[in-house]
Amino acid sequence: MWSHIHKPVKDLFWNTFHREGTRYEKRPTATEWLEAFRGYKNYLGNPRTNFDPMSNDVYPIRNKAFKQDTPILDCPTCGRENAIAGIWSDDTKEYFVPRQCNKCRDQQPARSAAASRPVSASCRDCGLTFPKSQLKYGRCPSCAKKDDERRARANTLDPSRLCTRCQKPYITYGNVEWHQRNGRAVPTTHKAGYGGSYPTDCVPTMTSPPRTVGTSFAAKPNPQPKAGFWARLSKWFSGS
Ligand SMILES: [Zn+2]
Ligand SMILES: [Zn+2]
Ligand SMILES: [Zn+2]
Repeated sequence: MWSHIHKPVKDLFWNTFHREGTRYEKRPTATEWLEAFRGYKNYLGNPRTNFDPMSNDVYPIRNKAFKQDTPILDCPTCGRENAIAGIWSDDTKEYFVPRQCNKCRDQQPARSAAASRPVSASCRDCGLTFPKSQLKYGRCPSCAKKDDERRARANTLDPSRLCTRCQKPYITYGNVEWHQRNGRAVPTTHKAGYGGSYPTDCVPTMTSPPRTVGTSFAAKPNPQPKAGFWARLSKWFSGS
């Protein structure tokens, strides 16, 4: 409010009422005050000096515009006329124009801070832009969900593929896809470790395996000879 007042009036107030003012001891006369306020009236009536419309308000809500070319806007949030004036920066030699009037900014400090500094980034999968706070490991909510599902499936054993030794599921969807992607043959048994030893629960079955559904059956070599061998061995042990 103070910034809008005509300088001679402002000076007279300060010098009269401040202890260090030049008129503190010798107070201005009524005529002097009248002169000062007549000057103020002329100033307000002259569009060259009174270039800021808010200077006419009884209760201005912002500082006076810096110069005649200062951008002055209505507040888009509350609709107050001329409520926003550009703020001159000597560093950049240009005006910074706030998005909201001072009143609106005071009322919504959190929202205005977020709005003036939007932090967004694009999703690594779909490339669309999202607020950074919504991204999870660089993925938007829907792509993150798809990725979770993809990972869960990749770690799930494919029930349609059975180990040709033990007839149990032995390979995950992810591992199958990895072999296919790299043009390698998908293994048909549990993975053998060093020295060709299979996991302890990969126990060769004695009987011929139950037939499994279509695709996996066709992809597997016929396990019959191997089961036959174990069957014969079992017979040998039991001595029959
Ligand atoms: Zn406003
Ligand atoms: Zn996405
Ligand atoms: Zn096995």
